[in-house]
Amino acid sequence: MALHNEEEEEEEPHVLMVAFSAQGHLNPMLRLGKRLISHGLHVTIATTHLQPGRRLFKPSSSSTTARDIEFLFYSDGLDGRKVDLDTFMDSLSQHGPTNLTKLIHQNYHTAPADANNSTGTRKTRRRRRLCCIVSNTFVPWAAYVAHDLGIPCAMLWIQPVALYAVYYRYYRNLNPFPTLTDPDLTVNLPGLPPLRTEDLPSFVLPTNTFGAFSKLFSEMFGAMEKHASWVLANSFHALEADVIINSSKDLFPVVPVGPLVDPSLLGKGEEEEADGAVNLWEVDHSCMEWLDEQAAGSVVYVSFGSLATLSADQSASLEMALKEGRWPFVWVVKGTEAGELSSSSGGGQGIVVAWAPQTKVLAHRAVGCFVTHGGWNSTLEAVAAGVPMVVYPQWSDQPTNAKLVEDVFGVGVRVRANGDGKIVIGSEEMGRAIREVMDGPKSEQIKGNARRLKIAAGEAVAGGGEGTSEVSVRKFVDEIIGR
Ligand code: UDP
Repeated sequence: MALHNEEEEEEEPHVLMVAFSAQGHLNPMLRLGKRLISHGLHVTIATTHLQPGRRLFKPSSSSTTARDIEFLFYSDGLDGRKVDLDTFMDSLSQHGPTNLTKLIHQNYHTAPADANNSTGTRKTRRRRRLCCIVSNTFVPWAAYVAHDLGIPCAMLWIQPVALYAVYYRYYRNLNPFPTLTDPDLTVNLPGLPPLRTEDLPSFVLPTNTFGAFSKLFSEMFGAMEKHASWVLANSFHALEADVIINSSKDLFPVVPVGPLVDPSLLGKGEEEEADGAVNLWEVDHSCMEWLDEQAAGSVVYVSFGSLATLSADQSASLEMALKEGRWPFVWVVKGTEAGELSSSSGGGQGIVVAWAPQTKVLAHRAVGCFVTHGGWNSTLEAVAAGVPMVVYPQWSDQPTNAKLVEDVFGVGVRVRANGDGKIVIGSEEMGRAIREVMDGPKSEQIKGNARRLKIAAGEAVAGGGEGTSEVSVRKFVDEIIGR
């Protein structure tokens, strides 16, 4: 949409997406941004300077473009100081609103005073019409900023709708959940199978020690009810129909617009190229050539996402299981442990990388199983690629995602904790789970479900006005630009 005079430029519809600076938050924001661009919007992602030790690959200046998406950065108030998570979250919610507001005033036409500005390029930039701010879970205050500036606000929920329902009902006291006096209470929620303690997200358990996250979720539902006009979710109707229908009846309505990873681009280079623009670690592509030499469906891909790390015991169990099962593997081991594991793997059975081109790996014909922590992006990427999973959940939403993968979607198995409920899994259990997916008695059924869900994922986002998620994105775009 190349517009030339100032009056027309003022009408260019822009969306500002405010993303928490973690890999699992940036990826769905970027992918939603790409989809909004395909509907004619201009998209900018605002995020903070990253925590020390991580940097955004490709976009390295303070304002830069990845494909058609511009990145803008605002300060979290820490000036690069390394702090613990609670301090980081406090500083972000203290300084974020002011700094984001400043950034918006500098870049968009939001206040009457801007109209009088007569400096060349600044004037053009300020004439961009901001028609929506999209916030996500860990920046709930962005909804208040939007409200104060009179800009409509949407929220992107980046976990399954099942988790939206669980957290909503927990933080709004709509249903009973386990307590210290009744720690084993089974939770029954509309549209979901009964959830036992091991299936619940760690933040709703009475043993939760991450106060910062509880505070965040509470603030988020408050901000959402007050100021959000839309809650978009990275999920799709065919995947979570029961809980989507039930949540829309009882809770603040949620609109599935996923999977945000585009199944039609997987493996064709385009998805990876775009994602590559916001990797927080440098991508090691060496595993792709190695995969080319492996038999179809023979390789186990192991990755625990951007945050979870395995203990030495957990890694040893998994490594032993892979060796005993003689499965070729690609294993993502972040940071310096990579070299260690690499040399001990030996024998050419596997390859270890510090950060993989994950969607490309999952789309490779050689990959037959994904051993994952069950982060929602990873889970949906596997669903979109039709790759069955072994889920080894660590914390947060991952236990519930594992339950969904095994019992609702039927596209994988979960490794089972030992008797005391702690996630310390022996090599026998790891081996059992991988075998069950690769060639056990249930493997054909699991693989068949994975193939069917891959097709359903593609249909949900199909262009041409057909897919359920695509229809919702178009409706959202129509509403925000007032068509
Ligand atoms: N990822 C990647 N390369 C890796 C490991 C992970 O590109 O080696 C990407 C993965 O594709 C996903 C994101 O990092 O999009 C991780 O998000 P997820 O929600 O799965 O887990 P989190 O990191 O938030 O725990």
